Amino acid sequence: MSLNTKSKVLEFLKEKQDYVSGEEISNLLGVSRTAVWKIISRLKEEGYVIEAVTNKGYFLKESPDLLTDEEISPALETKCLGKKIYHHKEIGSTNKEAKKLAINGEEEGTLVISEKQTEGKGRLGRTWSSPFGVGIWMSLILRPEISPVEISKITLIAALAVCKTINKTTDLKAEIKWPNDILINKKKVCGILTEMSAEIDKINYIILGIGLNVNTEEFPKEIEDRATSLKIEGKKSYDRKELTRALLLEIENYYTIFTKKNSIDKLLEEYKSYCLTLNKDVKIIRNGVESIGRAVDLTKNGELIVKKQDGEIINVFSGEVSVRGIDAYI
Ligand code: ATP
Repeated sequence: MSLNTKSKVLEFLKEKQDYVSGEEISNLLGVSRTAVWKIISRLKEEGYVIEAVTNKGYFLKESPDLLTDEEISPALETKCLGKKIYHHKEIGSTNKEAKKLAINGEEEGTLVISEKQTEGKGRLGRTWSSPFGVGIWMSLILRPEISPVEISKITLIAALAVCKTINKTTDLKAEIKWPNDILINKKKVCGILTEMSAEIDKINYIILGIGLNVNTEEFPKEIEDRATSLKIEGKKSYDRKELTRALLLEIENYYTIFTKKNSIDKLLEEYKSYCLTLNKDVKIIRNGVESIGRAVDLTKNGELIVKKQDGEIINVFSGEVSVRGIDAYI
């Protein structure tokens, strides 16, 4: 049975919102009644609630809360991002899987998404907690024609896109902790991990990993004081499918502006308007060594300009440091 036939049956059932006979489906798609029965069984196994009534047919009562290709694709408005989706119930790390696919030549825009990660990755070897069915744990393959030194701009674009998506589609106010964390009420709701393979002057591929806590109700002890989810903040559940689609569209919009102009000038003002690191005292932790200063601005490449206590002005590159508030996480 092809995935396509299964998707078509599903689409048909969703459109009808009523009983559809096995015969009708089999005529429409040109497959046998047994094939239809098999497809329905498979859909039930995947979590679709389908009622079967003699002489009436099948009625799709409920779709599972899963980020599968069939659930995401029909209403997805992007041109490139997420046009091909690899969905997993469980995986080590979506970034790792996307990397494998990219090495095998998978196209730009391909999305790896999993309901759960057992080895979710953060920056600098840290881990990302990714329990089943409550977040958006995803990685995109990108192949921009930019210089490898520009990779940090992709992180900024992604942070901006996540922030905008939350602010547009929910009643919550998200902010960016430079360069790559999204916070609500000063707690982290999303992390971004950008990895790449490159030659001296050419990028082979970029893996843009995003972990967004959507309906998480509880976090592991070690991070509960600094992590949050949309549900914790908004006191209600949010639709992960809708958010995934909105997020892909927002990333695509910003990514297209960036790759067409080869500059983030246009996006930087918006990024700054969401960035809570600016005009704050910050602690820069580089290889375990701490220094304190005031974050005064961003360069046109998105580096953080910090005025140190001794008056020296330094540009901080995103890959090398962790930025903290003086006494707290931000
Ligand atoms: P930070 O500046 O917060 O240290 P980072 O950008 O250096 O973050 P990330 O890769 O973004 O690091 O995130 C990894 C860190 O985020 C972990 O060390 C942990 O403290 C925290 N964390 C892990 N899982 C989650 C989660 N699901 N939600 C929020 N925070 C998490």
